[in-house]
Amino acid sequence: MKKFFLIQAMVFALFFVNAQEMYYADPVKIPILLSGSFGELRNNHFHSGIDIKTQGKVGIPVFAVADGYISRISVSPSGYGNVIYMNHDNGTTSVYGHLDQFRPDIHNYIKNLQYEQKSFQVDVPVLPGIFPVAKNEKFALSGNSGSSQGPHLHFELRNTKTEEPVNPLKLGFYFVKDNTPPQIFAVQVMPLSEDSHVNFSSGKVIYEVELVDGKYRIKNNPVIPVYGKIGFAVEANDFMDGSANKCGISSMELTVNGVVYSVFEINRFSFAESRYINSYIDYGEFSNSGRRFQKTFVEPCNKLRNFDFTENNGIFDPGFEGVHQVKIELKDTKGNSAVLEFSVEGKYREMLPAENDFISVFECGQVNQLKTDEFSIELPEDALYKNLLFQYQVKEAAKGYFSAVHQIHNKTVPLHKSVTVSIKTKDLPESLAEKALLVNINPETGKFNSAGGKYENGWITADIRTFGNYAVRVDTVPPTILPLSIANKTTLTETDKIRFEIKDDLAGIGTIEGLIDGKWALFEYDAKNNLITHHFDAERFELNKQHNFKLTVTDNRGNCSVYEATFNK
Ligand SMILES: [Zn+2]
Repeated sequence: MKKFFLIQAMVFALFFVNAQEMYYADPVKIPILLSGSFGELRNNHFHSGIDIKTQGKVGIPVFAVADGYISRISVSPSGYGNVIYMNHDNGTTSVYGHLDQFRPDIHNYIKNLQYEQKSFQVDVPVLPGIFPVAKNEKFALSGNSGSSQGPHLHFELRNTKTEEPVNPLKLGFYFVKDNTPPQIFAVQVMPLSEDSHVNFSSGKVIYEVELVDGKYRIKNNPVIPVYGKIGFAVEANDFMDGSANKCGISSMELTVNGVVYSVFEINRFSFAESRYINSYIDYGEFSNSGRRFQKTFVEPCNKLRNFDFTENNGIFDPGFEGVHQVKIELKDTKGNSAVLEFSVEGKYREMLPAENDFISVFECGQVNQLKTDEFSIELPEDALYKNLLFQYQVKEAAKGYFSAVHQIHNKTVPLHKSVTVSIKTKDLPESLAEKALLVNINPETGKFNSAGGKYENGWITADIRTFGNYAVRVDTVPPTILPLSIANKTTLTETDKIRFEIKDDLAGIGTIEGLIDGKWALFEYDAKNNLITHHFDAERFELNKQHNFKLTVTDNRGNCSVYEATFNK
């Protein structure tokens, strides 16, 4: 399998280098600086494109990178926000995310569709003849829509056929300057079997590193005593010229005593595999401290195909004695490299087994389940990356809950697939059954978030994707609606639009319906800012008269709020 992908990637790359060197133009005509790189480590996914800085503002013109046609348009309150997909005749698709505005004809096309479907959120394939584009043709303005954390253009290249994202910097986007090597901050040495130890500890050890004469080494340059199967992980970032933003590395190679143990490379991946990032990084460390350490070894049920080579899955066993030279080399897309070197020494010591009050062994690659008279859990085959000593406890809940609190392992172990849990309700009145849901409770703060779910015969069942503490609550509180453009329910305070802030306390916003004189009116929804906006539209609504306005916002448990006003426009 691996060889096949390698060859496919090489053919693809050759195709570009030979025939397509100047195939692509830059998508913005300002000096190109990146705030994010391809394959960069993000929450639950590898970054699938490059983030191009737009001088801190929205409204920078965006241009087609090559001849082709618009093949898909999507509008969403989260994710990529306003996004355009373009197919090109070399078999790639370019993707432009978080846009502010489409060109007027594209805008009208989508708006008609939104009114037809009575939905702000749309995602449509577009036939080739409708919006052909020429290289360097302007078609949109950059923005901050969807889940964007600040104005930028998310630019992506995909293999049209496989839909796999590929690294634009490897495939013709040569205008991004990068002579700055990656930086390494720390390395982890991790015991990987029961009798393993690192520095005579059965837990992992983090060593901070320093740069000396162009190479990284562990501070104070110790020889680390180790025994049994051990693995390494590094904390590192790449940086681009002229930009302080943290970016991701492109490749990583582990050698021990001059023998290559693993080669990781991320110039392509599939969206279906992106969540394996939670096995590739030390997820437990990340969920506790926010630090991302990238492993040079592969866990048994991690199917990410970006390890191009591994010897022994990248796991090293030093034996009983001898000093071993470990070298980890990281490179960015342009080949700038950072090298970390340190020594480990095989030293045996008998270790007491760590205490663990698990109640069941869940094996990765298998279906696992557990049932009690007030709780059940089922993990599908692909839920775990390695075997898990599953911990579970029931605790009495505080006031306001309608079940016990179920401690379902803990948040430091990642889940690849959703697992189904059912929790038995306690003292839940029949009248509140449809308002009930599962919540995930933060054990430190007691704060909770909705995990959704469905009521049936005294149980709530939900699919969850993180372990942690769960219990049943009810949401009977409707969303809040705060008018930002209408005073006293009669006077407009803005000329061309009406805006509202809408919030829900628990279940989350479900549906939004704005009616002007009884007719459905489009409200753009910006979920991260809890903001909805209607732009007055003389083509669809007769203006210069008095209007009856009604806004209904419903949460995911059927609680709804209505706001009504009468205004002249
Ligand atoms: Zn991005």
